[in-house]
Amino acid sequence: MFTISQLARHKFYRLGTVFSSGFGAASLAMWATTLFETSAALPSEATGMVAGLASLAGAGCALAYFAGSDDTSESYQKAIATDPITGILSRDGLQPELLKLAAAIDEKLKIHRLFLISMDFDELRDINDIYGAETGNAVLRVIAQRLKLLIGDAGSLARTNGSEFVVALKSGYDERELRAAVLALMETMSQPVRIGAVSYPVYANGGVVEVHKSSIQIEKLLRRAALARTHAKASGRGSYAIYHPEMSHQASYRQWIETELTFAMERKEFSLHYQPQFDVRKGKIVGYEALVRWMHREKGAISPVEFIPVAESCGFIQQLGSWVLKRACHDALRLPDSCKVSVNVSTTQLECNDFLNTLRVILAETGLDPKRIELEVTESLLIRDHINMRRLLRSIRELGISIAIDDFGTGYSNLINLSELEFDKIKIDKSFVDRVSVNNNSAAMIATIVSLAHSMNASVVAEGIETEQQSILLQAAGCSVMQGYYYGKPIPLSAAITTDKQLAA
Ligand code: C2E
Ligand code: CA
Ligand code: CA
Repeated sequence: MFTISQLARHKFYRLGTVFSSGFGAASLAMWATTLFETSAALPSEATGMVAGLASLAGAGCALAYFAGSDDTSESYQKAIATDPITGILSRDGLQPELLKLAAAIDEKLKIHRLFLISMDFDELRDINDIYGAETGNAVLRVIAQRLKLLIGDAGSLARTNGSEFVVALKSGYDERELRAAVLALMETMSQPVRIGAVSYPVYANGGVVEVHKSSIQIEKLLRRAALARTHAKASGRGSYAIYHPEMSHQASYRQWIETELTFAMERKEFSLHYQPQFDVRKGKIVGYEALVRWMHREKGAISPVEFIPVAESCGFIQQLGSWVLKRACHDALRLPDSCKVSVNVSTTQLECNDFLNTLRVILAETGLDPKRIELEVTESLLIRDHINMRRLLRSIRELGISIAIDDFGTGYSNLINLSELEFDKIKIDKSFVDRVSVNNNSAAMIATIVSLAHSMNASVVAEGIETEQQSILLQAAGCSVMQGYYYGKPIPLSAAITTDKQLAA
């Protein structure tokens, strides 16, 4: 393997590079400095080169030309084509390799197809932070070896970035064959890595894109594979997705949403709607769930299902979440005292250190009795960050605010592993409710959830009730508070106030 330090000991030869701007030279100068920092002694040629590039950077643009013999130029190309940590191909090495593999494709004769599979895992950052970069590098080496063994001569392997491995895979025309191969790669990469006495868990996500001989633009292909990988990530750890042009459209739509969100706040395009929660035993509305609405000045209504995930990933959720909380607390003052107002809070909001303080400030500003507010949190976070969440939920409840576990039944948790957490309510997800009329087991499961929840002093709300039949079946399973279109769609505050007055009359 040709490492960076070996490279540093070599003379520099032909490096004919045309820079379109001074930036190119500046970054190359920086790159060269970093490169030589790994070597004990900086060769004099290198010093000259760095200085030369730096001055080129200052000059703004240039042609850098270093002359030397041809055979070491080959060594240089080989060095940058190799990943110094794992010894497999680097990002630079992938392009020529891809051209080579693509040359053997004959789309007309259906000789074979070529796919690029990008796989990445999130755990490297934690491993580096906790155990040090050397351990992180060792993990990368183990993964590279495993993948290399698996791939054999079916393709090539590169490490393109941090924890991103890319496989250029020759595959047949059978879709099942491709899927089986990708699955094998994912499983191989996702095995825990054992180094010494410690086992490091790794959960990879993958994105697949087909390489067509007619257009091999490595950066574009890698971007598309990464886009597919991001899509896969949304379906959970360990999954993969095959690139589809629709993904690019979705990515630009997400980008548009991200830009528009900030303007939307300034233009006051957000509002809250309220959906009633109806207690069938008491025969009255006992609460309202606040649901954010965005009326874009040109595009019209945009669903929270579209913009909340974007707001979460770009950080805007902090601002939006605080606005929602404040608005809901103000609105609660205008709704009957007997009604709680439930507010959805995102994972990222809860993870913010300042969350508790924001709650305190809003309560003080509005003067609302904290008992009138309930926060809806999803179960996934509670499981992932158990210790911190236990502490946070306790502090929130100490303020007098109650907690509901939203979308119960969609995550991995069950009531047993939620039992250490303090919460007041669980909301049975619509997907459970939908199954109840077609599947007896679902009804039995709901009955068990309800009795377990009651034994933990928690109440239960069934979500997404659309028909009378669903309501009857859920009541039979022991559930008495219902939310869904059958009992009322989300409506503006003014309409909620009117409905309540009519019911009271
Ligand atoms: P969620 O918290 O599960 O809210 C319930 C969603 O189901 C709402 O969709 C509601 O309009 C819809 N729904 C209620 N009853 C029925 C029914 O009978 N049938 C059907 N098909 N749907 C019903 P919405 O308003 O589009 O909100 C979607 C999601 O967006 C919410 O799901 C919640 O996760 C998120 N969201 C909404 N507002 C906020 C907010 O202020 N903050 C945060 N962080 N998330 C919010
Ligand atoms: Ca909710
Ligand atoms: Ca829900």
